[in-house]
Amino acid sequence: ELSNRLKQVVNYIPKGSRIADIGSDHAYLPCYAYLQGIASFAIAGEVNEGPFQSAQEQVNKLNLQDVISVRKGNGLEVINNGEVDAITIAGMGGPLIASILEEGKDKLDSVKRLILQPNVAAIFIRKWLEENNWRLVAEDILEEDGKIYEILTAEQGQDLELYKENREAKLLLGPFLMQEKKDTFIKKWNQELKKYENVAKQIKQAQSGTEVETKYEDVRNKIDMIKEV
Ligand code: SAM
Repeated sequence: ELSNRLKQVVNYIPKGSRIADIGSDHAYLPCYAYLQGIASFAIAGEVNEGPFQSAQEQVNKLNLQDVISVRKGNGLEVINNGEVDAITIAGMGGPLIASILEEGKDKLDSVKRLILQPNVAAIFIRKWLEENNWRLVAEDILEEDGKIYEILTAEQGQDLELYKENREAKLLLGPFLMQEKKDTFIKKWNQELKKYENVAKQIKQAQSGTEVETKYEDVRNKIDMIKEV
């Protein structure tokens, strides 16, 4: 049975899409998306030999070799231009997901939708999307096995209104998530608040210096933003 986290990611794939799942590990997501009738074709991309083998085994086991192409390579390099209309990247940190998108930019022309599930630091993805002419169209948040995950969905083109007001807070917390304020969202940011307050305390106790003070200011800013939301 697929995790709720990955099921939620699949929820954002438009029906009939040709997809690439990058960092697919066991290829659970593409297999499920195909068997549910959501994806019509899928690439399962993996950079590491072990997970690449696991993906192949899973696809062979389900006899899906004709519709799921398991490919070994770094990030989006496994995609040929025009091959897919949606890309999923799940279960990695925000900075890694953003760097995969940055390095594979030239593969995105035909792609209509990106569905990204960072485990931490979604801010790096929101910033990358904004700088690269992708607009956030939906955000989701869920808890599974004691961890909280975010899912960001983006489409081509800019939304000039999205970050117009309260930009810094929206980049950190998510413009849709902070409007919706689900229980899971409140829980996540109460946890983050505690972490930042600990960091602030530690900085206060450390020796002074301009670098330390800038860092302190930065953390205080985040604390104020979170509290306000
Ligand atoms: N996507 C699955 C999920 O969400 O459950 C697997 C997540 S797993 C924690 C991350 C996977 O991404 C690993 O299997 C790793 O080998 C792969 N990976 C990391 N960097 C990658 C890259 N640059 N290109 C392709 N795969 C990558």
